[in-house]
Amino acid sequence: MILIGVLFVVPIYYIARSKGYNGGLWGTVAAVLALSGMWAGAWVPVPGIGILEILLPAATLGLIWIMAPKPGAPGKAYLKITFPCSECGKSVTFKREQEGRAQLCPECGELISVPMDEHSPSPTRDTREKPPRTDGAVCLESFGLPDPAIQLVALLKANGINALFEGDDAGGTLPNVAVTTGYRVMIDVRQWEAAVAVMENQGEPLPDEDDEQVQPPDAEIPGRE
Ligand SMILES: [Zn+2]
Repeated sequence: MILIGVLFVVPIYYIARSKGYNGGLWGTVAAVLALSGMWAGAWVPVPGIGILEILLPAATLGLIWIMAPKPGAPGKAYLKITFPCSECGKSVTFKREQEGRAQLCPECGELISVPMDEHSPSPTRDTREKPPRTDGAVCLESFGLPDPAIQLVALLKANGINALFEGDDAGGTLPNVAVTTGYRVMIDVRQWEAAVAVMENQGEPLPDEDDEQVQPPDAEIPGRE
């Protein structure tokens, strides 16, 4: 079953998404068909019927393969992520399955983080719960790479929110592993709702209520406990 998952369900999921279809739905259909074939192979006394376990998900893969992409779908570009390695600078390519994960660079062998891109799922609000604090600095969002964290800090500052970038050099004796320890965007918890609103606005600066607006008086981030 794991083999069927790797051979069929995973590719079906990503190919469906690349064509603008519901990957989860297509993957589930393929898995259910594979299970049905497995069930038939075990219980239906017809010789050779067990091959359905492979044929049905394979047919699903063939179907999604030939289906026309929806307008605006990312297409084949979705299936690979190409980016310059953060260690050696060479252009490297990973499968979409690896997005956001730590991988070894095929060029230099260092541990690097495969970046998220414009096709990656964006963090949703329900994963970002306001901490039960009334004041003090809290982590708004954490990232595996410094760049998106720095960009978010800049975006928040452009919208009047005093955000801080906090990198983690906790690699210590394993400095190359530092990339996995995370980069955080810290804000004053009293600006939480405003910061979330900026993030949900997806980079569009909020309309200024007052162009001469200066930093709010509580914009200073108090020391952390
Ligand atoms: Zn490299």
